[in-house]
Amino acid sequence: MEKTIAVIKGDGIGPEIVTEAMGVLDAVAAKFGHAFTYKDAPMGGCAIDAFGVPLPDSSLETCLAADSVLLGAVGGPKWDSQPASNRPERGLLKLRGSMGLYTNVRPARMFSDLSAACPLRPDIAARGIDFVVVRELIGGVYFGDHSTAQVDGEQKATDIMSYAEHEIRRVAHVAFQMAQKRRKRVTSVDKANVLDTSRLWRRTVTEVAKEYPDVELLHMYVDNASMQIVRDPSQFDVIVTENLFGDILSDEASQVTGSIGMIPSSSMGEGTRGLYEPIHGSAPDIAGQDKANPIGTILAAAMMLRYSFNMAAEADAVENAVDQVLKDGFRCGDIMQSGGKLVGCREMGAEIRKRI
Ligand code: NAD
Repeated sequence: MEKTIAVIKGDGIGPEIVTEAMGVLDAVAAKFGHAFTYKDAPMGGCAIDAFGVPLPDSSLETCLAADSVLLGAVGGPKWDSQPASNRPERGLLKLRGSMGLYTNVRPARMFSDLSAACPLRPDIAARGIDFVVVRELIGGVYFGDHSTAQVDGEQKATDIMSYAEHEIRRVAHVAFQMAQKRRKRVTSVDKANVLDTSRLWRRTVTEVAKEYPDVELLHMYVDNASMQIVRDPSQFDVIVTENLFGDILSDEASQVTGSIGMIPSSSMGEGTRGLYEPIHGSAPDIAGQDKANPIGTILAAAMMLRYSFNMAAEADAVENAVDQVLKDGFRCGDIMQSGGKLVGCREMGAEIRKRI
């Protein structure tokens, strides 16, 4: 197969980790007989420096014309003084909106060889952690009207949270279809005891569930869900939730598995094109020092193979290579344990490539 991948290296450690992920994709292409063509799409602080804006039209066009998009990370202190409308993160929001990416999927999986990095009690960690958070990405309070006004002698701020049925339905379908390929259990998270948007969420997800009789559906309030993720994460298979709750729960979920440097994420809309990235930021504190862990980005590339290109065997090959590298004791600084072999970003990438 021939695929074109738009590559947004971004800022900070972005170029280092994306380069390693591209190397792994090249190893997959060589082994399985595919051809991947990469098109650079500058975005973030580097694009502000070069073009004056965080997402130039040419980069957006490159992404929209590609079969999929691989992203490192954007942002850094150098651009913190930019006006809000021209910050590096604006480029990412514009890209998500323009690509119509309404679902974000973040796996929370604990690698057995990294169980020592799990902050939960060993008996809880021993039950295993392997679930995904499916988050609605372009609706809810983040996309509602925001205002601050002077009322009765003081400042009053308002953020509007709204959801339409179709926005809920489409993300629910993603969750159920994902559960069908996993352990067939969806936990829908809301605050239906308080919020109208949550009551609509619950009704709509329940309706969609009728189309997936092979999948079990449970409902959970968000406060309970945040507690259950640390009390017994093994109970979860697929969590589906709205934008704000998903933002918070997916960070909690990634933390219980160990290092931030290990976790990929995918954002999808209609069709097969997606945006694949690690969950962490540009880590300016370690940029350019060959210290970044490239595994989150490499696993994001594996998600791209699986979900955008329908290459399950190729994705398995990448995930198995990562498992094997960890079993063989290789560790970047963020996941270093006693007895581990400390390697930098480039060597970690090379060791994974060797095992494809
Ligand atoms: P961060 O995720 O960049 O870093 C947090 C900590 O984790 C740092 O100590 C960093 O060294 C470490 N870390 C992160 N990724 C690592 C990796 N792969 N290997 C080893 N260690 C790693 O978060 P931050 O410091 O809050 O943000 C830095 C910049 O990134 C900010 O400008 C922020 O706006 C931006 N950011 C971008 C994205 C994105 O592009 N999607 C996401 C989050 C933050």
